[in-house]
Amino acid sequence: MRRWPLVACLAMPHVGCAAWTWMDAESTAPPHPFPVPGTPLFDWKGTIHCHSHLSHDSRGTKAEIAAACADARLDFLVMTDHQTEVSIAQGTRGMVDDTLWVVGAEVRSNRGTVLAFPLVQPLRRVFDVRALVAEAKAQGALVFLGHAERNEAWGTPGLDGVEIVNLHAGAVAAPTFGMLLAGLFLPVRTVMALSARRLPEVFTAWDTQLLRQHPSTPIGGGDAHANVRVFGPLGGTIGDYREVFLTLSTHVLAERLDETSLLEALRAGRSYVSCDVRGSGTGFDFRAVRGAMVHLPGDTVATSRDLELRVHTPTPGELRLLQDGVIVQRIVGTELARRAPSPGIYRVEVLADGEPWLFSSSILVIAEAPCQPAGDRHPSHQDRSPCARSGPSPHPVLPHSVLPPAPSTHHTTGPSSPWRSRHAPGQRSGRTVNRRCCRRRRPSTTA
Ligand SMILES: [Zn+2]
Repeated sequence: MRRWPLVACLAMPHVGCAAWTWMDAESTAPPHPFPVPGTPLFDWKGTIHCHSHLSHDSRGTKAEIAAACADARLDFLVMTDHQTEVSIAQGTRGMVDDTLWVVGAEVRSNRGTVLAFPLVQPLRRVFDVRALVAEAKAQGALVFLGHAERNEAWGTPGLDGVEIVNLHAGAVAAPTFGMLLAGLFLPVRTVMALSARRLPEVFTAWDTQLLRQHPSTPIGGGDAHANVRVFGPLGGTIGDYREVFLTLSTHVLAERLDETSLLEALRAGRSYVSCDVRGSGTGFDFRAVRGAMVHLPGDTVATSRDLELRVHTPTPGELRLLQDGVIVQRIVGTELARRAPSPGIYRVEVLADGEPWLFSSSILVIAEAPCQPAGDRHPSHQDRSPCARSGPSPHPVLPHSVLPPAPSTHHTTGPSSPWRSRHAPGQRSGRTVNRRCCRRRRPSTTA
């Protein structure tokens, strides 16, 4: 009997006491939907990589997941059950309350896991990741590397991006003793924060991937199963849907909250990943600005003396600007600017209290150089002139305006189009300049 107080103490964070167990939703919510200044786009928050009872390793119900979406104020949810005929056929599609649900799958190939969505049929070609990606593409799906920390499929043609943060991988990588102590004595928020980690090997591989192809869209993977019950029937679930959804999100900059607009934005690289357990990321902004023209992550832009990279965060943090994976500028605050950036692939990481918080997608800055006849040039993936041609990648390092259109997409706004500020009408579009330079030099898309 004397052991019961100890058991009760250990179990307390996970049973009765809401103040210890639950995480607070955003108390001061930003405007919704949050407009992206100077563009017709909005900042939509969602979760990608989630499992339900349609997976063999989860019992989560649609009602539980929908309630968690509402609590976390998610605009979209991409379900990635371990695919079966049933998971694809019976998966929920469309709006559930205020959240857009998309049906996809987490599929294990011969070289690693991929996340593909949306799907209308299960993928069969798991024996060959190239064939698997091609099969998904034939359905009009996007394909991302999942569980990037243990994936050998980097560089596979057709990949749209990478799951740069995965909460399950973060939990595995966290110090076991620290996780145990936190799980026993500290609020569940602390446990979840330990799982929202930046794994260096993933980011090194992602930076290499960006040199092969640009963009390579970043997403965050909640990998929610709601199946971790450390105290069995005594306690609740650690990492339930609500806790996962409040810990990590993927933000997409899209015109509308519908599947077409969402996919178009992800394909174009307009995303960022937010470890919301360290603060709401809504309003995080990384852009290249020339006069009144705005280029967003995923875009390619030629450098010039009046080009400026700008970063804004909703609350103060340590802002790090990286060029080709190397930190080139760092400030503490909410604003960072870099004038006349040299050619390179730029992205941003933000820390809050020394811990990873925000990860941007990338902007490719290329040199201002006149086009040369094709025979006079020696193309490589390091070639960043406006007329650069592809290396081994099927996605050449080129302005998007010269890339072949993706299937099943209706571009209402070109994915690499700069947006002209609403406050400065009448200026010419940089996209036109790119076209004039490069349209005649459409590259081959074969690897
Ligand atoms: Zn999973």
